[in-house]
Amino acid sequence: MRVSAYAAPSAGQPLAPTTIERREVGAHDVLIAIEYAGICHSDIHTVNGDWGPQPFPVVPGHEIVGTVTEVGAEVTRHRVGDRVGVGCMVGSCGECDSCRNGDEQYCARGMIGTYAVTDRDGTTTQGGYSTHIVVDADFVLTVPEGLDPAAAAPLLCAGITMYAPLRRWGAGPGTRVAIVGLGGLGHMGVKIAHALGAEVTVLSQSLKKQEDGLRLGADHYFATSDPDTFEALAGSFDLIVNTVSAAIDVNSYLGLLAVDGTLVNVGAPPEPLPVNAMSLIGGRRSFAGSMIGGIALTQEMLDFCAEHGIVSEVELIAADQVNEAYERVLASDVRYRFVIDASTLA
Ligand code: NAP
Ligand code: ZN
Repeated sequence: MRVSAYAAPSAGQPLAPTTIERREVGAHDVLIAIEYAGICHSDIHTVNGDWGPQPFPVVPGHEIVGTVTEVGAEVTRHRVGDRVGVGCMVGSCGECDSCRNGDEQYCARGMIGTYAVTDRDGTTTQGGYSTHIVVDADFVLTVPEGLDPAAAAPLLCAGITMYAPLRRWGAGPGTRVAIVGLGGLGHMGVKIAHALGAEVTVLSQSLKKQEDGLRLGADHYFATSDPDTFEALAGSFDLIVNTVSAAIDVNSYLGLLAVDGTLVNVGAPPEPLPVNAMSLIGGRRSFAGSMIGGIALTQEMLDFCAEHGIVSEVELIAADQVNEAYERVLASDVRYRFVIDASTLA
């Protein structure tokens, strides 16, 4: 099946309209008519070749919401007409310890990413900036009724990427959580941490978005460009989640952790993030990482968001605005997620 899409032809090149082939709907597959696709900063890292060589052309997009239009003979979980979502993964081995534990994203044989990865049939996966996608039913999520579909799309990556570490490191009543960077991931982190009952602080480059941050659920908001911030907040967080897409001085942020606190890095800059041993030793602190979240946890997150009325703050764009949107994300000028209206691709 030939479908319309937007693709980057080679590293760093602007995206342009194209068509791509989607596989036949197999017995265990679901065909989805895509309605919305969020723009994640990872799409931009990928297109720019920040993470090393990879196949081109690439159709990015791993924050996908749409409607099921066809299901394979063995599919029981989803039906034609269902509102569904697809995130960063479309496959994994299903047999290793990680897959058995519901951590498909840490599959020992490598998760199959939604784009730019070799699929089981030897083809390269292509993502959600497209009108249709065929996905193994096990990697298709149910989008609860009541969630606005355009604003729910970013939950499939930004939402789960924040929900997973907040849950794992116990964000809740009585915990002091800081979110570094108020972008796509960061603003979801603020909403989710607040809904979990934590005391939430935003650490942003400036105070420009302070009003938004407080409205989204933050209790406090500080500018990291102000050196006083690092003195005033020393030792005051149990958990810091760093969402920044560029390299920051991790050691100054580790100094903001209380004894036994953890700084979880979800931002994925191409540069290393050097850590001084003393930054950790001094307060028995931890520096950790976290990547998206497993399928069951992603469904739990979607249900949690429906229950708490949480969606992303989105700016809906037409497909031909995608290059401009990339520029704005790179300039930290996003409030707070661009979402492509897939009807503009047809
Ligand atoms: P985004 O919307 O661009 O947000 C990043 C935010 O970081 C910006 O809004 C800005 O916030 C801050 N920032 C940007 N450049 C900075 C700099 N030079 N110094 C300090 N702060 C800076 O990006 P995103 O989509 O949230 O993604 C963020 C990162 O997470 C990317 O690297 C992406 O690849 C990665 N990611 C990881 C996972 C995972 O599973 N671990 C999943 C998705 C994305 P302020 O303006 O508030 O300072
Ligand atoms: Zn993403």
